[in-house]
Amino acid sequence: MKSSSPVYFDTHAHLNAVEFVKDIREVINRAREKGVRWILDVGDSVESSKKSIELFKDYSEIYSCIGIHPHNAGKALESDFHELEKLLLKDSVVALGEVGLDYYYEFSDKDVQKEIFAKQIRLAKRLGKPVVIHCRQAENDLVSIIQKEGPVKGVAHCFSGNADFLKECLDIGLWISFSGIITFKKAMDLRETASAVPLDKLLIETDSPYLSPVPFRGRRNEPAFVTEVARCIAEIRGVSQEKIAETTTENALSFFDLKQNGHSYTMK
Ligand SMILES: [Zn+2]
Repeated sequence: MKSSSPVYFDTHAHLNAVEFVKDIREVINRAREKGVRWILDVGDSVESSKKSIELFKDYSEIYSCIGIHPHNAGKALESDFHELEKLLLKDSVVALGEVGLDYYYEFSDKDVQKEIFAKQIRLAKRLGKPVVIHCRQAENDLVSIIQKEGPVKGVAHCFSGNADFLKECLDIGLWISFSGIITFKKAMDLRETASAVPLDKLLIETDSPYLSPVPFRGRRNEPAFVTEVARCIAEIRGVSQEKIAETTTENALSFFDLKQNGHSYTMK
């Protein structure tokens, strides 16, 4: 289905966060007005994952991604995995995440983070769900876990690594998603790296409510601003913004298995 104006897929937002309690309807309306046709709402614990499913059950454009973030790995219980497994069977849940490793904050012990990450990869593989991956200052361990557990259909969300890490991610089959960080003045190296991502592996996101792109820095981020990420990538690559919108939306629909018969889309 083609439309005249570009259609976007924000592949990573935390609309279930407290920052959106007061005005979620307005936020979603503004996204619609900007052509943001799909949004992936991301959980970081069993609790927020359940909240995501419940909050957006009546919104046909918002799908949920559920999982235990590395920050919460230390609190994960065995029963959480049974819960996740049940929730992953719901039609509105299209991915497992966000999961991964965060050695920058290290809110959970590194070994625990590794174990919880590996366990969730195994769960996703068993259920045939793609994985949304968070990585901060843990590149080597992340790659070796995926190599050990893989191959896995995953995306390196909010990519901010260097060219070497990009190559490693692509080598292990990951897709690459860019957030508003790419628009920041100082992100010259990241923009350079982004120009090397194969177009068929490219996704875009906001990571709302964090990381507002230029020219909205300092404000709460929201899915409508994903157009700025597309604009920036289009500039770097010397193509039109429409082309980036179209490509990343098509990519997201196939990544999350929302395509049917190659052209029409599964509805929630
Ligand atoms: Zn996130």
